[in-house]
Amino acid sequence: MTAVVLSVDAELAWGDRDRPDPPRHVESARDSWSRLLATFDEFDVPVTWAVVGHLFLSECDGEHDDHATPTDDWFEDDPGGRAARSPLWFGGGLVGSIADADAGHEIAGQPFSHAAFDDGRTTREVAVVETRATLEAAADAGFDVETFVLPRNEVAHRDVLAAYGFTCYRGARPALWFDGARLESLAKTVDLTVSRTSPPLVEPAVDDHGLVTVPASMRLADLDGPAGTLVQTLGDPVARAAKRGIDRAAEEDGVFHLCLRPSDFSEERDFERLRTVLEHLDAVREETGLPVRTMGEVAADLQVADPATSRTPIGPR
Ligand SMILES: [Zn+2]
Repeated sequence: MTAVVLSVDAELAWGDRDRPDPPRHVESARDSWSRLLATFDEFDVPVTWAVVGHLFLSECDGEHDDHATPTDDWFEDDPGGRAARSPLWFGGGLVGSIADADAGHEIAGQPFSHAAFDDGRTTREVAVVETRATLEAAADAGFDVETFVLPRNEVAHRDVLAAYGFTCYRGARPALWFDGARLESLAKTVDLTVSRTSPPLVEPAVDDHGLVTVPASMRLADLDGPAGTLVQTLGDPVARAAKRGIDRAAEEDGVFHLCLRPSDFSEERDFERLRTVLEHLDAVREETGLPVRTMGEVAADLQVADPATSRTPIGPR
């Protein structure tokens, strides 16, 4: 399979709720979300938007008493009420704006309250509730979600995803030489600036639960650490790496899967970086016919190719 896939982690406040003060990017998250949508439309690039389940709600009681949670104070920061009063905790019209966009996006899910599935606190009971609540909130809002994304791509409880009829999830990026290195952020910076290796292409596959995994290739975000900050002032090695990934997908068999978080977009140069990458993608697509596909489209192709994987889900309720 040859394709470029883009996926967005749509979280608003839920991705950073355990921090004492919301970071600046959370305050601007709704604007970032809208600007990303406009940019994808401009380049006609369809994207998989993985929406935290709570964002499908238009109101809540702020308590969620019947929802099994990893800790007793899990919903402490949830202000409850209605979307208009707490715009960072509810999607409001934003989820609808994904569906209405011309680019033809896929709406996918994340755990209802952004619980990390493999952190040792998320029991199977919590995973069931987090998965089912997302499915139900999405269905009540009129959306049928089949793809699931887990925080930090740390995959666990896949049997639960399969039981609830999901067909696809985002797997972890393949391990690279700098992962776990003693000076990891420096090593990664060297990799992007000196070695200039291409990010990995990935091979979507059907797992033992009949789910299609589409692993990540790279995240379009600033490099960490002082060395990363320095090299970004001298150019944009992250954008260049993404372009190398696109070129590689046009030349070799495999998928280049670029991941984005609206929380990584708070400054003008962050949006410029995305435009640079999408301009390149548009040019390569025009020249080579390289397809840009959603995770759901990739999964549908693989499952048609392997009818033995068709399953009867338990269903949302
Ligand atoms: Zn709530």
